[in-house]
Amino acid sequence: MNKITNHLPTAELQALDAAHHMHPFTAGAALAKKGARVMTQGKGVWLTDSEGHKIIDGMAGLWCVNIGYGRSELGVVAARQMEELAYYNTFFQTTHVPAIALAAKLAELAPGDLNHVFFAGSGSEANDTNIRLVRRYWQIKEQPQKRIIIARKNGYHGSTMGGGSLGGMTYIHAHGGKIDGIEHIGQPHWWAEGGEMTPEAFGLMRAQELEAKILELGVENVAAFIGEPIQGAGGVIVPPSTYWPEIQRIVDKYGILLIADEVITGFGRTGNWFGSQTFGIKPHIMTIAKGLSSGYAPIGGSIVCDEIAKTVGEAGDFNHGYTYSGHPVAAAVALENLRILEEEKIIDHVRDVAHPYLAERWNALTDHPMVGEAKLVGLMGSIALTPDKATRAKFAGEEGKVGFRCRERCFANDLIMRHVGDRMIIAPPLVITPAEIDVLMERAWKSLDECYAGLK
Ligand code: PLP
Repeated sequence: MNKITNHLPTAELQALDAAHHMHPFTAGAALAKKGARVMTQGKGVWLTDSEGHKIIDGMAGLWCVNIGYGRSELGVVAARQMEELAYYNTFFQTTHVPAIALAAKLAELAPGDLNHVFFAGSGSEANDTNIRLVRRYWQIKEQPQKRIIIARKNGYHGSTMGGGSLGGMTYIHAHGGKIDGIEHIGQPHWWAEGGEMTPEAFGLMRAQELEAKILELGVENVAAFIGEPIQGAGGVIVPPSTYWPEIQRIVDKYGILLIADEVITGFGRTGNWFGSQTFGIKPHIMTIAKGLSSGYAPIGGSIVCDEIAKTVGEAGDFNHGYTYSGHPVAAAVALENLRILEEEKIIDHVRDVAHPYLAERWNALTDHPMVGEAKLVGLMGSIALTPDKATRAKFAGEEGKVGFRCRERCFANDLIMRHVGDRMIIAPPLVITPAEIDVLMERAWKSLDECYAGLK
């Protein structure tokens, strides 16, 4: 076989890819018909593909490349760490400097008394940790029946069996089932489900479903509630302002644990270090991944409050962990990423560039005949496509068909924007400049126009 490099013709790479590579969330057979786009390089907010197209990445990969592509400092740190200590584990009373330093740094950055980190290789693994951790906590507290975790429909918490079960996406449950002890309540998605209610009244109502669910299940059986500060994969659903304060009131009243899944909203995405700070949420555990290393190395984790860490730590071994928990190379890369985020004041930049610059332009998309609401928090945004703004109607036929077409037009116009049903979403690298925002918006308008013209 020829050596497989960037220099092979695209069609050859695509054929090999379709023949041997099983992709996540993709129909394998479709790849044989239409090859995957082969990405070859990244710099800042820009990707280059094997055909030489310069693509603006409106999704920061999978919402993860917060510092942008091509920061060679991270490669230098990774190489140095591989030479010095490529691997050691953190089981059985051993540790190493990168894991120590990263845990200490995260304790410094995280709000409140979130001072302890359990490392994982990804967001899904971290949420699996959370399931075991909260159940173990209540077992030690002599309430072993407190096992149920309440989550939300259309939430996303990963695709391991645990993470996928916490998530409320039924199409994931349909492939392989769902573990027991997870219950779902409605999501605060006013545009799609709010009917005649005001967003504020609807947000309150959806939060109060948590109270109703706790009472239905019995508080003695409920361990925790988990939610993303802003639902990401569900379509960048920004909850009404009434939602999180009411959730907080309810978890406080019933004494259940609150897990904020910050896998997308962490590390600057919403204009603060964590989405919990943006929404005034006080979680007992935060799930982290993605922006922790800006996607340069696979690493995730759970940042845990003093009470849970102390309780679990004093009760003997916690029978849980991954070979790569706190992997030294990934930890060193994450630390360097945090240094860049902090020293280059990238989170201040998010606030500066998001409001009013991007917000004005993003909100102006509602002038487009096919765009209903536009939402933006920090550098995380969505628009709802609709045939009738006044009634917030859905398109006739299969949901997502128009969104998919719009995504295809974006792709053809060298803009990566994702669709979730008939919502289009963005989450660009946090280093995007005003001039790059102009390019993104210009390509977004063009793609929307082309998609709209195709509907007639
Ligand atoms: N939690 C949230 C909120 C996510 O958005 C994701 C991934 O998109 C995950 C968890 C899962 O993370 P990973 O894909 O690293 O397992």
